[in-house]
Amino acid sequence: MPKAQETVLEINLSALGHNYNYLKSKVNTSVKLMAVVKAFGYGSDSVMVAKELQTLGADYFAVAYTSEGVRLRDENITTPILVLHPLANAFKELIERCLEPSIYSLKTLREFIATAQTLKQKEYPIHLKFNSGLNRLGFNEKDVPEMYSLLKNTTAVKVTSLMSHLVASEDHNLTDFTHNQISSFVSFTEDFKTEFGYMPMRHQSNTSGILNFPEAHFDMVRSGIGLYGYGNSSTEDLALKPIATLKSVISQLHNIPKGSSVGYNRGFIADRTTVSATIPLGHADGIGRQYGKGKGCFIVNGKKAPILGNVCMDMTMVDVTGIECQEGDEVIIFGAYQNASEFAKGAQTISYEILTSVSQRVKRTFCR
Ligand SMILES: *Cc1c(COP(=O)(O)O)cnc(C)c1O
Repeated sequence: MPKAQETVLEINLSALGHNYNYLKSKVNTSVKLMAVVKAFGYGSDSVMVAKELQTLGADYFAVAYTSEGVRLRDENITTPILVLHPLANAFKELIERCLEPSIYSLKTLREFIATAQTLKQKEYPIHLKFNSGLNRLGFNEKDVPEMYSLLKNTTAVKVTSLMSHLVASEDHNLTDFTHNQISSFVSFTEDFKTEFGYMPMRHQSNTSGILNFPEAHFDMVRSGIGLYGYGNSSTEDLALKPIATLKSVISQLHNIPKGSSVGYNRGFIADRTTVSATIPLGHADGIGRQYGKGKGCFIVNGKKAPILGNVCMDMTMVDVTGIECQEGDEVIIFGAYQNASEFAKGAQTISYEILTSVSQRVKRTFCR
């Protein structure tokens, strides 16, 4: 790999292929895989990731919002795309770009049917989301009779899948809760089948559901974090490969005498002679201020260098006392040596948050 000369997020497309194959190996061959590429592909690059996964044979993509699906269509992604959380103001565009909505309430169902009828659609594919306990999006049991009657009174839409989302599939202390979610989803789907005479595709599992709950694989699984190389557990992390490495360089070294300070508001005061390295990325690049004052460490020549004082907008200073290094040397923020979960733990957050925080200012590069 060439050494970084500026801040880059390096995305390894072979690692993505490895993760895809690993996740596929965890489900029966008949189970479809929906690749979740929302939020810029978890902070990587949704277009490059989707192109690679389309080549690998992903059955479906999922994005959160319509604009994210439009971006993929603009880049010739032809695989079906589910929009997990479409808002009614985008329904027209969603249909025009052949995106498929998750419909989660009576209001969204009414509004979507109206838009589909206006655009003269017949059997437009929709996905019904059932609330099995997350209490975030989804039909509740009391909505079901009216939902049925709305569906029976139109030919503009056709239910392609029934879906739900697990609350705590990574948490082994909450397996009873998860099993309840699975059984309430199953009864929802069986009731639908009795009412309409066919069973749409069913899907409920995210990455940790794939890894921990084979009984919740149904006809399709939805993986996001696993494709990017994280399994919400240190053992699963070993089988997966992080696809993104955030790297930078040392811009300048300073010798800080005892009693002098580093950075804004004197966030760090040296209690001994300290060598500080200035790195060209800051909170505008996604390294939040919660990583400051030693909560986060960067890796300099294989060694941990804790953040000194406050993270600035465009720069971060780290402690390289005792680490052999020079101006121009490469620095790793996460990826090799410390993965994004380990880095995030310092600031009491999770891989999902740090991955999706890497801002659009950071250049993306690709390798295999
Ligand atoms: C984001 C999301 C996923 C992906 O979850 P991971 O834990 O990243 O695999 C799956 N389903 C829904 C509804 C989501 O919002």
